Amino acid sequence: MNILVTGGAGYIGSHAVRQLCEAGHEVVVLDSLVTGHREAVPDEVPFYQYDLAQTGPITELLVKHQVDGVMHFAALALVGESVRQPLMYYANNTAGAVSLLTAMKNAGVKKFVFSSTAATYGEPNETPIYETTAQTPINPYGRSKWFTEQMLYDEAHADPMFALTIFRYFNVAGATTDGTIGEAHDVETHLIPNILFAAMGKKDKISVFGTDYQTPDGTCIRDYVHVDDLVNAHLSAMTALTPGDVRVYNLGSGNGYSVREILDAAKIVIQHEIPTEYVDRRKGDPTVLLANSDKAKRELGWNPKYTDMKEIIETAWRWHISHPNGFAK
Ligand code: UDP
Repeated sequence: MNILVTGGAGYIGSHAVRQLCEAGHEVVVLDSLVTGHREAVPDEVPFYQYDLAQTGPITELLVKHQVDGVMHFAALALVGESVRQPLMYYANNTAGAVSLLTAMKNAGVKKFVFSSTAATYGEPNETPIYETTAQTPINPYGRSKWFTEQMLYDEAHADPMFALTIFRYFNVAGATTDGTIGEAHDVETHLIPNILFAAMGKKDKISVFGTDYQTPDGTCIRDYVHVDDLVNAHLSAMTALTPGDVRVYNLGSGNGYSVREILDAAKIVIQHEIPTEYVDRRKGDPTVLLANSDKAKRELGWNPKYTDMKEIIETAWRWHISHPNGFAK
């Protein structure tokens, strides 16, 4: 298939580009490079540095490359930033998706795989979280994705030929096994990279946010899924899409790890002490986020390969230790 990957220079998008190319698909990348890295995209892949708002040029590239389907990863994804600058999130994530869909409509492209998030569930009212669990996002980031989901359902309702898969991601982690691409954010807020930065001396210490949660060891529990496993579901979804499909899947491992458990696993992988401080809770962190991903396994034949947290951390470690400055030379 001919596939446009938006956000293909970003963390998850670049892993998708890699897998799509390996599977023999023709890939085109669109990325504004606001947070992405040109170096993350292979030279042979056609690359367009466009903003999602550029409906006209996007329409042209869809036509030119005879795109069959779009995987839409491009988004802003920092919860704290979304609270401070909500309009930026609605403009980029929600209005950006409107523009992209308009371009697809203009070009007659009907297959769409969308990166949504567990943040659309907010503080979930049940654990584990099913696709049917009530969605009550508690921050602008979650709402910007939730609004996009609603818009996609409306478009699917209006156009019987539209074919849609929405994935709600849990905590994505790790890197390709060869360590050549990985997570490289200018502002890194995620737990695993920050633990590794503390181990590398790139930061003084890792701060554990809150030890008084209602969990066995007092720290928050999350569901970590390896980026290559996550991306793999997208390939299955894209090839399975047929007109009229409206599919929604959680993507998580189904295994919960507390912050302390992640730290312990990292120590085993790195064989090194990790300077740690215990501080107050970070605002807006739900106590437990755990996915039930049986639906993706059942309907897409999804079979995540990484079941051991240490293996996930090992792949991230390989990337960070070989690229201490990310993609910068
Ligand atoms: N966390 C932490 N220290 C950090 C970053 C994260 O203790 O430097 C905790 C955070 O409070 C949450 C978990 O680790 O309970 C996962 O956070 P992350 O930002 O990686 O992902 P999120 O679940 O917020 O999307």
